[in-house]
Amino acid sequence: MSTSLRPPPAADAPAAPPRRPVQSIDPATGAVWREFAAATPDEVTAAVARAREAQAAWAGRGVAARAACLREFRGVLYRRRGEVADILTRENGKPPMEALGSEVQIVLDYARFYAKVAAHELRGTAFTPASPAMWRKRVSTIHEPHGVVAVISPWNFPFMLAAGVVVPALVAGNAVILKPSEFTPSSGEILGTLLREAGVPDGVLQVVQGDGVTGAALVAAAVDKVFFTGSEATGRRVALECASRLVPCSLELGGSDPAIVLEDAELETAADGILWGRFSNAGQTCVAPKRVIVVDAVHDRFVAALASRVRALRVGAGATHAEVGPLIRPSQVTAIRAQLDDAVARGAQVAATAEMPDVSPDDRGRFFPPTLLTGVTTGMRVLSEETFGPLLPVIRARDADDAVRLANRSPFGLSASIWSRDVRGAERLAGTIEAGTVAINDSVIVAGMAEVAHGGVKASGMGRSHGLAGLHECVRTKTIVAERFTALRQPWWFGYSATHARNLDGFLGFAHGDTLGARLRGAWRSLQLVFRGRGGGPGRDGDPASKSGS
Ligand code: NAD
Repeated sequence: MSTSLRPPPAADAPAAPPRRPVQSIDPATGAVWREFAAATPDEVTAAVARAREAQAAWAGRGVAARAACLREFRGVLYRRRGEVADILTRENGKPPMEALGSEVQIVLDYARFYAKVAAHELRGTAFTPASPAMWRKRVSTIHEPHGVVAVISPWNFPFMLAAGVVVPALVAGNAVILKPSEFTPSSGEILGTLLREAGVPDGVLQVVQGDGVTGAALVAAAVDKVFFTGSEATGRRVALECASRLVPCSLELGGSDPAIVLEDAELETAADGILWGRFSNAGQTCVAPKRVIVVDAVHDRFVAALASRVRALRVGAGATHAEVGPLIRPSQVTAIRAQLDDAVARGAQVAATAEMPDVSPDDRGRFFPPTLLTGVTTGMRVLSEETFGPLLPVIRARDADDAVRLANRSPFGLSASIWSRDVRGAERLAGTIEAGTVAINDSVIVAGMAEVAHGGVKASGMGRSHGLAGLHECVRTKTIVAERFTALRQPWWFGYSATHARNLDGFLGFAHGDTLGARLRGAWRSLQLVFRGRGGGPGRDGDPASKSGS
């Protein structure tokens, strides 16, 4: 349900309840580009009912048909990639390079990956259990869609992050209701349009526009699972609402990702990679390196290499092919400024800043020049909070162990990076870092690889998106246990007696005895246990002990 603002009602029509407008605004100029109406709670309820009706037929189509829709979607997106990238630059502010490279390209990869793996990954499996007591059973496991799932997405990668959940949820047979961020409604709308053009039925994928009120209404509606990506504070609210109704939820929340630069790091490469990771998307990336921890031996050389690069960054409107665009809202500029001021007031030094863009005085407040901070210490907000903008604090560590200790000293645990020439050693170190993913000699990339499960630990959330783990979040497992030999009694059914207890003990010898004799004796007793005849009830075997009911 795309909710473009409707024409005003006729003069004699009853007054409609007031609607909150959702505006698509160019972050570089503040110009309103498009307006949508926020869906009311009643409309959200109706959308869920419609999805419920459509879901069974969609699931019934089978995974091969649904995967074919994804292949079609990939074709449609590829053909319309320029249009999608324009929307992203226009309402999110990111340069075309990033709109194409960090959004469109990754979604094309998702579509290909899930179309390829879904049938194999979602097929049922069957097996015979290992326990001799259960050899007679056939166990099969099937993966069912949850039903109707809600996807609530943020504004920072509005197309990629929404698609990263919507695409696997659809191929798994769910109906999906997507609520894009109120700051990037058009990015959500175009995703819905392209998927429907690729053959996903109307009711199976619906886009409801709105802010947190609409999001809360969707979480409270009769959905079967909630996928939430956004801030920690909102994530906690969503989790509480889901917990109150025992609805499963998956939470992709904020981070304060450490980048650890070791003594043997290739410093120029590390400076390039951390620079891009932190300042691309104007620093508004969940898995950006948000704290650089540099071992003492190379601290000053690394800071010098990074500082010269920060000064050279080109800041400006995304459409001008600048490297660092505007922040999504002036309020975000204010938030970053407050974190910078706090750090400086507590003794941090500004080691480098990029130049402000040459824009009108009215628009200057939309940009924040990339800034490098040194002398950063515990207690500063830049370390205890997520910095969601182009601000990079550098911390000095004694050695690798100290760097890991500092890295883990954070409420968050989304991702991390390690920079070292010794890749094997860095892999070992990665095992000691509290994070969902760790990149070595690269940053951010983990969230852009379709095959890689993405998600955090601690306050960074729970559940995984992307990769096979992300697909399995979209299904629930059902197990069917079938008895194959119904003519044989189940040894544990009623008909208890001393004889049966002895036979059962023999069966334990057959299954778990540690000598051949115990096993053979046990095998004979086991046969008696199984062939004890139908019926049951105390004393059937004439055992006096059972007759007395003992
Ligand atoms: P946000 O929490 O303000 O909003 C996210 C979404 O939740 C929006 O669609 C919003 O309308 C909706 N929402 C707001 N209140 C709600 C409520 N009570 N119930 C349900 N939905 C509600 O986050 P944001 O500012 O859009 O995004 C930035 C944050 O997201 C950062 O913290 C960033 O680190 C995080 N993020 C995490 C990941 C990840 O994969 N872990 C990815 C991107 C962004």
